[in-house]
Amino acid sequence: MSEYHTQTVTELSAMLQAGKVSSVELTQYFLNRIKDNDEQLNSFITVCEDQALAQARAADERLKAGDAPLLTGVPIAHKDIFCTEGVKTSCASKMLDNFISPYDATVVKNMQDAGVVMLGKTNMDEFAMGSSNETSYYGVVKNPWNLKAVPGGSSGGSAAAVGARLVPAATGTDTGGSIRQPAAFCGITGLKPTYGRVSRFGMIAFASSLDQAGPMGQSASDCALLLNAMAGFDEKDSTSIEKDVPDYSADLNKPLNGLRIGLPKEYFNTEQGGMAAGVEAAIKTALDQYKAMGAELIDIELPNSNLSVPVYYVVAPAECSANLSRFDGVRYGYRCENPKDLNDLYTRSRGEGFGSEVQSRIMVGAYALSSGYYDAYYLKAQQLRHLISDDFKKAYEKVDVIMAPATPDTAFNIGEKTDDPISMYLSDIFTIAVNLAGIPAMSIPVGFADNASGENMPVGMQIMGNYFEEAKLLNVAHQYQLKTDWHKQLPEAFQ
Ligand code: GLN
Repeated sequence: MSEYHTQTVTELSAMLQAGKVSSVELTQYFLNRIKDNDEQLNSFITVCEDQALAQARAADERLKAGDAPLLTGVPIAHKDIFCTEGVKTSCASKMLDNFISPYDATVVKNMQDAGVVMLGKTNMDEFAMGSSNETSYYGVVKNPWNLKAVPGGSSGGSAAAVGARLVPAATGTDTGGSIRQPAAFCGITGLKPTYGRVSRFGMIAFASSLDQAGPMGQSASDCALLLNAMAGFDEKDSTSIEKDVPDYSADLNKPLNGLRIGLPKEYFNTEQGGMAAGVEAAIKTALDQYKAMGAELIDIELPNSNLSVPVYYVVAPAECSANLSRFDGVRYGYRCENPKDLNDLYTRSRGEGFGSEVQSRIMVGAYALSSGYYDAYYLKAQQLRHLISDDFKKAYEKVDVIMAPATPDTAFNIGEKTDDPISMYLSDIFTIAVNLAGIPAMSIPVGFADNASGENMPVGMQIMGNYFEEAKLLNVAHQYQLKTDWHKQLPEAFQ
């Protein structure tokens, strides 16, 4: 039996194009791998066996006809936040447990046009609110490196599935770190593009001014291939940007001589950020490797970094309270039994359909937007958001990219932070500023470190770039991956 799961998307694409494997064979292989392994991980909400095989047969026809795009026949999974026509789209909520989408999200459509095969829909935190995948209506997802640990969130199902190689790659979304933090926790590569680069149409909204979709894969070169298919202007999304999509694979091999890497002192301040010693050691080693490749390390300041978590936890709940008001038990989704009157229908449908994290965010958001508090909270947070963006703008006058840890610690154990929301929220302390500013950022695996329970878990390093510089980030990440093999390592139980 071939070991297709050890191959990257880039490698599988070359094999498909050369006719060394068919898409049907690959699709069946990964469907079997999901069947054999996902009971342990719970990384999928829905597996689309028949549809995937039909798509694979169509991909094989396209490949035979010649001129098939590079992703033709490559099986992937979508986070269950993306609407998929005719397939359950739950956002991991009881509210949408019965929802079959009548249309495809633009990301799903773009990738389908590029020839990918959709194996299924991955588990996530409910409505993408969470950092550990423990808020899903379909149960917690396990980290493939250690089944006692969380995979991170909210794109934890995608990260765990790719980490265990149940799929070669998957999509994710990132509102405050939900691609980068789970990528870091599961030892994979993830990219959050510039706000507006990828269409949000058909992606169930959490916080509209922050949400952005991106690829989660084994390597930077895989993420480049996936982003090529995902990105682009979409007239159905008024916040998507009318700007040409470059070939993200074109610059991967540029040498890094003279690359200026900024190191924000606030992120490396162990007292403030509480970065674990093992994480710091792995990041320092990676930075030394960049130096050896010809990069220059420059100390910089992002003085308003300490505002990012409080600002985010006003802006994101405020926008979520508005976005989630559409789930009212009337139009679609969950409806309570025997409502007494309209008010009872609203309150019980929402009270029974939403989980507790979602409900508490809606309440915080509604409070922050209410008359009398709007100026004190929401408006203030939006003002502070500008200070955070300005910090990045100033920094990019002096440096090309910024590097920092993706998370203060490695993956924590299931249940460890569920009673302590503040410590849960702080696991995104290094990722949130990026969303508030709208810049692109990646997480790449750079080693291993013990978590608080003494388990050795993957460490992710974050690479942040200026607006629309995804190609530069991918180049910087790819050069490191040519010299190291952290991204190639597989958890023992899934080899
Ligand atoms: N963990 C953050 C939150 O709970 C970010 C989530 C996300 O990026 N979707 O809101």
